[in-house]
Amino acid sequence: MANVSAGDRRERRTALVSGGSRGIGRACALALAGAGHCVAVASRTAAVNDEVVEEISRAGGQAVAVEMDVTDPASVKAACQSVEAEVGPVAILVNGAGVTGDGLLAKMSTERWRSVLATNLDGAYHLSRQVVPGMMRARWGRIVTISSVVGLSGSAGQANYAAAKAGQIGFARAIARELAPRHITSNIVAPGPIDTDMLGALSDERRQQMAASVPLGRLGASEEVAAAVAFLTSEEAAFITGAVLPVDGGLGMGH
Ligand code: NDP
Repeated sequence: MANVSAGDRRERRTALVSGGSRGIGRACALALAGAGHCVAVASRTAAVNDEVVEEISRAGGQAVAVEMDVTDPASVKAACQSVEAEVGPVAILVNGAGVTGDGLLAKMSTERWRSVLATNLDGAYHLSRQVVPGMMRARWGRIVTISSVVGLSGSAGQANYAAAKAGQIGFARAIARELAPRHITSNIVAPGPIDTDMLGALSDERRQQMAASVPLGRLGASEEVAAAVAFLTSEEAAFITGAVLPVDGGLGMGH
């Protein structure tokens, strides 16, 4: 067998990143474009998707913007069809779209419960369901779902979010088993607190408390999560599936 280096094996593929407009998803879009892939940047906000696409283009990469609401199967279907028509079937999927809707259980409305489940968990289902048939035909695929340390440990005031993030892990592992015979891997990245808009609503004091609870003593950066995602989507990660990879400064150790 010829000695093939990682560089020789690198192929340009179509990658779709939900939540690609901001924070962790945006960093994933930039990292995957940097790895040579054509990236579909997906979120509900067209103007911000466009900004990320422009940034990728300026850096010499290839990207397209796509408006998509992951809670709406019709929107997901239409968006995936337009991506496929423009740049080919999705071979790499990052389920990054997510929202929080914190509140103590005793006061949590059904609407708040449902909206967090609808984006984080149903969203991952709708999108994976849409792109998996193409991966099966290609007999190659990479799915990475961005869960959270909270999906493993729980978190007071986040029953909806913790349930959704734990659900993502079960979902991603079920499809890892289902899709393995087609050389499609499905892995989970479980970030700890990452400095993005999602933490923006917190007071400085709360952010400092969060940082202090992390063994490495700080919040993480989106790029640190994206590096793990880029690895899991690479050829080199072909023998890794159903894994939960923490990027949490040690916060979830032991869970
Ligand atoms: P941000 O709030 O910065 O970004 C969230 C992204 O999701 C945006 O691009 C947003 O775009 C998109 N999004 C939200 N709702 C929808 C929807 N219905 N359809 C399509 N896109 C949607 O969050 P982060 O970057 O911090 O989080 C990214 C992922 O990482 C999430 O799954 C989150 O749960 C997870 N995570 C984050 C942690 C953190 O500390 N930041 C820790 C652990 C996990 P738009 O609103 O324009 O649609």
